[in-house]
Amino acid sequence: MSYRTNLLGNLSKNYIGQMVTVTGWIDRRRDHGGVAFIDLRDKSGIAQVVIHDEELARALHHEYIICVKGEVIERPQGQSNTNLTTGDIEIVAKTVKIISQSKPLPFQVSTAIEDKEPVGEETRLRYRYLDIRRPKIAKALKLRAKLNAVARATLDKQEFYEIETPTLVRSTPEGARDFLVPARLRPGAWYALPQSPQLYKQMLMVGGLERYYQIARCYRDEDFRADRQPEFTQLDIEMSFAKSDEIMKLTEEILVNVFAAAGFVISTPFPKISYREAIDKYGSDKPDLRINNQLVDLTNYFANTPFFIFQAEYVGAVVYKGGAAIPRRQFDAWQEWARSRGAKGLAYVTVANDGELGGPVAKNLSDDERTNLLQTVGAKAGDAIFFAAGKPNLAKALLGAARVEIASRQGLLNDNDWSLVWVVDFPLFKSVDDDDDDEIAVGNSKWTAVHHAFTMPTDEWLDNFEDAPVKAMSDAYDIVCNGHEIGGGSLRIYDEKLQQRVFNVMGIDAKTAQNKFGFLLEAFKFGAPPHGGIALGWDRIVALLAKAESIRDVIAFPKSGGGVDPLTHAPSVISVRQRRESGVDFQPKKPSVNNRDN
Ligand code: ASP
Repeated sequence: MSYRTNLLGNLSKNYIGQMVTVTGWIDRRRDHGGVAFIDLRDKSGIAQVVIHDEELARALHHEYIICVKGEVIERPQGQSNTNLTTGDIEIVAKTVKIISQSKPLPFQVSTAIEDKEPVGEETRLRYRYLDIRRPKIAKALKLRAKLNAVARATLDKQEFYEIETPTLVRSTPEGARDFLVPARLRPGAWYALPQSPQLYKQMLMVGGLERYYQIARCYRDEDFRADRQPEFTQLDIEMSFAKSDEIMKLTEEILVNVFAAAGFVISTPFPKISYREAIDKYGSDKPDLRINNQLVDLTNYFANTPFFIFQAEYVGAVVYKGGAAIPRRQFDAWQEWARSRGAKGLAYVTVANDGELGGPVAKNLSDDERTNLLQTVGAKAGDAIFFAAGKPNLAKALLGAARVEIASRQGLLNDNDWSLVWVVDFPLFKSVDDDDDDEIAVGNSKWTAVHHAFTMPTDEWLDNFEDAPVKAMSDAYDIVCNGHEIGGGSLRIYDEKLQQRVFNVMGIDAKTAQNKFGFLLEAFKFGAPPHGGIALGWDRIVALLAKAESIRDVIAFPKSGGGVDPLTHAPSVISVRQRRESGVDFQPKKPSVNNRDN
């Protein structure tokens, strides 16, 4: 006898009178004097099975797998279950076979119970295979599979080739720390796990394939942060003979299809905003444009201020609509919020209904400054105004974060609204001191790449970016959705000399470059085509579309805090023999002189 003739979730009134065989897990059971009602669940859904054999019914427990042969009948009048798609019918069991038994569960997985009994994430991850039975996680993983298929179909149609690149690689410095794997056969030598397939996809372009993509696993050994995983997935794309506009158009097409597959309509073309404008107006290079509120630059306004805190390189403000009404202790909480972000605090004034300014900062403002303040920042009676003063980037970032926090506290961020925007016109370099991330400098200079070292300078800067690295611009673009960076890419350098000039600015001299990237520089000598690409942060995109709170909810077996897998307990201590064989303890006589960042 086969396990099934039908899937449970597909049964309906159309099957009334038919004998079916179904197999699934016991989701729920209720006993009614000699009759047991069982909600039986398989991947497609749930249908009710009625068992009249009391003794048999007693032997059945939650999450047992049973195979039932029975007749589909209409449920008696008034007993339909409108919560179930199969709620009009039930299966009257003729035979029941227990296929697999289950211990009592560490937590309930039943559809009916799942959200009523919240379970700690550590426990859920410890028993992830049970967690996956919960509809929420199962649904997210199924959605992910669907989105993968849609992305593939879109790219296949455009004649892109899905090509796998190695995951045991020579380290591709992209700014993060590598995960390293000892090479048993070459004691003292190590592979790295790829931070991204960047250099391989570029070499595929030199290989003449012209259009590549991959749903690629990437690895970055960074410090733990909420919602960051040491291994993550990118939809990685590269194409030859294309300019940024074409790459952006293709990306938009993929996103339109992927959003549609999740039931959302977005329109194209996505708006574009320059990096500069994003920082100045929204205090972020990933602005959430669902919120209209913008930062106001008050540096000139306060140029002659007597208030010493505002005697700063930059002074800006953001309006908190209706904020004057919040109680004093909430303003105190805002100070805490600002301090938790590394700021000293958050200066504010309140605007009373008669227009009078209140709050600790107000008395420090001159009469002139008070007079025009409301008009200048666009505030009204009843509002509050938050200020930040200091180094422009830090102060703007604080105001940018406040802008989002205000909207979030006011319940203005609707996760059914989608704001997709391209951030363009990125600088080519940034000062290593400006790095707010735990990035690792690739070279030995004050300058590091904003995107990565392989990004093409814009035409205007091709000849002279060395003269003003701070001003030089690149052909890079990020795609941002509701305040999350969901992807980024660029046109690439395909000329060896130009590549070395960029390396030079970053403090990677010819010898080091040869040692680390000689293979790429050499490839560029053999007719390298102009090319560019993008990588989309797949976990984040799926999480946004699944309305998941965390990317962990859309990853089958994610790591928890500290990069640990509570299920398998990876990473684990290895045996003495493994240490010996893998050569992890091997001490080279002379450390490699060429790898100076090691
Ligand atoms: N490799 C880049 C990254 O991982 C993306 C790209 O430039 O295509 O961020």
